[in-house]
Amino acid sequence: DQALLEVTDLKKHFPIKSGIIQKTTGYTKALDGLSIKVNKGETFGIVGESGCGKSTAGRTIIRLYEPTSGQIIFKGKDITNLSERKLRKVIRKEIQMIFQDPIASLNPRKTLHKTLVEPLKTHNLYASKREQTNKVKEILEVVGLNASFINRYPHEFSGGQRQRIGIARALLLQPNLIIADEPVSALDVSIQAQIINLIQELQKEFNLTYIFISHDLSVVRYICDRVAVMYLGRMMEVAAKQTLFEEPLHPYTQALMSAVPVLRKKGGQQRERIVLKGDMPSPANPPKGCVFHTRCFKAMPICKEMTPQFKEVKKDHHIACHLY
Ligand code: SF4
Ligand code: MG
Repeated sequence: DQALLEVTDLKKHFPIKSGIIQKTTGYTKALDGLSIKVNKGETFGIVGESGCGKSTAGRTIIRLYEPTSGQIIFKGKDITNLSERKLRKVIRKEIQMIFQDPIASLNPRKTLHKTLVEPLKTHNLYASKREQTNKVKEILEVVGLNASFINRYPHEFSGGQRQRIGIARALLLQPNLIIADEPVSALDVSIQAQIINLIQELQKEFNLTYIFISHDLSVVRYICDRVAVMYLGRMMEVAAKQTLFEEPLHPYTQALMSAVPVLRKKGGQQRERIVLKGDMPSPANPPKGCVFHTRCFKAMPICKEMTPQFKEVKKDHHIACHLY
């Protein structure tokens, strides 16, 4: 069908090194089996508590991290093992990333002009310097900044402006897919709304597809079409946004959602708050069976023994849980 991106059982394990000779003594299973299909034009959310592997997911999909195993198909092409050179040619233009702290990735000694022309040069876009400069000015205005800002330095901008710069940089090469990793988490609430609206407007204007990574469920509820819930490197549930927020099936999702204020529910009842016991275990030593069993309020004996399959239990509603 119209999947722009198809990820199958993607894993990223980081070696744990110790001792003088830095021997590998184990692995942190930061991402341990991500399977998602992202359709053209949608905003696909990835949510979960910090440390659940959602950032690793984003960075592995875009091949900033080398995958340990699994497969990434983008526009029908297998990009899992493409060399950096081929990646640059084929993919680096078409998939871009927006980060939580855009300024950390901007060189403080370079003007916006210098920083933003660089990718255009790398990809041999726009023949003359003048055209490149004009392109940068145009993009600045597209994201709501003044073209005259082009000669300023990163520290001269506010938080919201910096994120607009991050977005401008992502847009420069006219990508199809943008992976946004907590793009508004560092901003004041009033600025968050502006940036979220900008992200949505740009989607329409440029036919963008987004993967939106966030721990903030109210932002996700506002912007996403479908959502994947992750826990300890794995997927717990994937469903359409409304289904996920109103009828979550997985106990972990139910716990997450119980903390979100209900807007309007039949009978006007507030959901009962489900407080999970304990902390998330270490991804270096995940529990056997269902990785959530140590904190699950519905755990059964089988949950300690067998890993539940990730399967479709209702139309377009997937979960990994022995209850279903
Ligand atoms: Fe809970 Fe068992 Fe389902 Fe895991 S498989 S979420 S432990 S009921
Ligand atoms: Mg993160």
